[in-house]
Amino acid sequence: MQTHNLGYPRIGSKRELKKACESYWSGKINLHELQTVGESIRLQNWKTQQEEGIDLIPSNDFSFYDQVLDMSLMLGAIPDRFHEVILQKGNNEMDLYFAMARGYQQNGLDITAMEMTKWFDTNYHYIVPEFRKDQQFKLFSTKVILEYKEAKQAGFSTKPVLIGPVSYLLLGKEKEEGFDRIDLIKNILPVYLELLKKLDAAHVEWIQFDEPFLAMDLGEKEKRALQFAYAEIKKAFPSLKIILANYFDCFGENLETALSLPVHTLHLDLVRCSSQLDDILESGKLGGQKHLSLGLVDGRNIWKNDYQKSNETIQKAVSAIGKDRLFIAPSCSLIHSPIDLDLETDEKSLSSEIKNWLSFAKQKLREVADLKELTNEKLKKNQEAIQSRNSSPLIHKPAVKKRVQTISDSHDHRLSPFSVRQVKQKEALKLPLFPTTTIGSFPQTAEVRSWRSKFKKGSLSQKAYEDFLKEETKKAISWQENIGLDVLVHGEFERNDMVEYFGEQLEGFVFTKTGWVQSYGSRCVKPPIIYGDVSRQKSMTVDWTAFGQSLTSKFVKGMLTGPVTILQWSFVRNDQPRSETCLQIALAIRDEVTDLEKAGIRIIQIDEPAIREGLPLRKSEWQQYLNWAVRAFRISSSGVKNETQIHTHMCYSEFNDIIQHIADMDADVITIECSRSQMELLDAFREFNYPNEIGPGVYDIHSPRVPSKQEMVDLLEKAMKLIPETQLWVNPDCGLKTRGWDETKKALTEMVSAAQEMREVI
Ligand code: GLN
Ligand code: ZN
Repeated sequence: MQTHNLGYPRIGSKRELKKACESYWSGKINLHELQTVGESIRLQNWKTQQEEGIDLIPSNDFSFYDQVLDMSLMLGAIPDRFHEVILQKGNNEMDLYFAMARGYQQNGLDITAMEMTKWFDTNYHYIVPEFRKDQQFKLFSTKVILEYKEAKQAGFSTKPVLIGPVSYLLLGKEKEEGFDRIDLIKNILPVYLELLKKLDAAHVEWIQFDEPFLAMDLGEKEKRALQFAYAEIKKAFPSLKIILANYFDCFGENLETALSLPVHTLHLDLVRCSSQLDDILESGKLGGQKHLSLGLVDGRNIWKNDYQKSNETIQKAVSAIGKDRLFIAPSCSLIHSPIDLDLETDEKSLSSEIKNWLSFAKQKLREVADLKELTNEKLKKNQEAIQSRNSSPLIHKPAVKKRVQTISDSHDHRLSPFSVRQVKQKEALKLPLFPTTTIGSFPQTAEVRSWRSKFKKGSLSQKAYEDFLKEETKKAISWQENIGLDVLVHGEFERNDMVEYFGEQLEGFVFTKTGWVQSYGSRCVKPPIIYGDVSRQKSMTVDWTAFGQSLTSKFVKGMLTGPVTILQWSFVRNDQPRSETCLQIALAIRDEVTDLEKAGIRIIQIDEPAIREGLPLRKSEWQQYLNWAVRAFRISSSGVKNETQIHTHMCYSEFNDIIQHIADMDADVITIECSRSQMELLDAFREFNYPNEIGPGVYDIHSPRVPSKQEMVDLLEKAMKLIPETQLWVNPDCGLKTRGWDETKKALTEMVSAAQEMREVI
């Protein structure tokens, strides 16, 4: 039996990568310095994995921005618009790479970034490959080979990780009509073979191909593409040992295809799909050669592995196919886990009782190694921790459980249907056509962050901190009034993060100091841990919102995070159904909504950017999830009068297949991401005749690029062809907290004039 790992967090245990990338972007460090940081993270990761007992350590799991973008660069899938970046004097491959990720607005060039979307059902975002009908691929970057050699030189014989050709194509998007991207398999495979040839020449023995689309519903064409690709690879490199990795769900209908592929090892995610091992063994189709990699340690959550249970699975596999054909592994890449629990040393933020229930990436490596050679002593210690969690009074709160059980029918819908509410709200709020607003946050400048960190460290009094926040809020309100926005926000300066802020005030959550996980590029999040029953002790946002409202006669929107998003962006307890935990959160948010209304707030936004990413990977399971997710939102938003306007916000979502459920959420206004996709998302709303109001984002806040007024007018005109103007709002794509003030002010000023121009046209 051997241990292996599918991927290790690359942000560095002190978020070194984030800092280095951001310094490089702002010109504070040069390329060489950036590369040095990358090298030292890689080396540290390889060492850690070796020390913790991993036999087969990955390489090429490192990335400066995103592993899918890395593939695009390796395979030369570089959209034409970026070619000029490389031609510019002084630019290097990394500048091209970052331009693809973030857009490029320099030296007279103005190029929009590639789209970004969520990686399966995670909160990691990848850069979507763009394909044209006559798409050609050619070996462009040799990152995977360089990293293999670098590891070799440092004494590690690694297993390079690549996204497999079928999943790579499926992750992308057709940028013109008239073809199906899976048909590009014939064009792309030669480049994969070329890469493999170079790896082979460097004496690579193992390679991991990630084909996570095996956990999704696949058509015949995709299955044939898999068979074709891996047969060709086998033909060209008969002795290369390929680990084919599927994760996040069962092989399901694709099991037969997966078993038929000529690969050395199949990796199974036994956390998400524990029945998979039985399915495979019972199918009798594993043959006498193929190895299995048992993904037993949860790469998506932070709970300690239950050795007793895992060991039963291992023993079953051992007796069926023998030790020699088995790998023990985490369920998926560990990039979705925080890095090192040992760095959590503050008893006040994370008590040793709760800490003893947890395991982060580094600890998960050790769990994998422990499971390979499980001693009685290790088993006993592990079972003590598991027992302590099961029976802890910290977790169970009878009053919370009872309230969930007694939710009444009247709790999950508004007093009147939207058509009635709309009239009342128009009367009460008297907003112009094309009302302008923002999504909530304003720039979290270095200054704001440094005041917060001083306050948290105790070197700043509560009063001094709050006075500072009040000043920021005041400036933001008066500035919004000045440029003529219609519905204002207080700016969220007091919030570190849209989930953490709420979690910190709710019972049942704990926080780590160092538990960062990459969300996209240099953005990291520190998900809270929901360990017990959730309840609200007192209002969480009323003071700041009411303070904002007291400064202006315009409406200030109350700003909340919805129950599904709080759930989705936390590490959730695994001892009760997620739906149960979600209802507990929904009730806490409902109480906050009604408190805001009582405090005189007339418009309340409940952000649910994560509804879509919570969808199970397989369609057959969607309905059940959507039922409880939509109900949770409705419970959270339905405690108010007809005149009170409920907004929701979602980013980076496609709506076609869930538009009915979005409508069922029955928010009075929904603001959505739309600009990177040129209002394409609105088609779904039009076809459905979506009745409520919509604010399609008119510019992309993930890039520092300032849009012109004309660009936004064009987008709004496009929107107006699809949605009646009485239903349209004007707003950016998402919150502005990652932007600087300079670009924010310019962009919003342009946006307000775009709305004004639209009103004149009508
Ligand atoms: N209100 C939040 C903000 O403006 C919403 C962020 C999000 O959708 N991710 O930051
Ligand atoms: Zn958003």
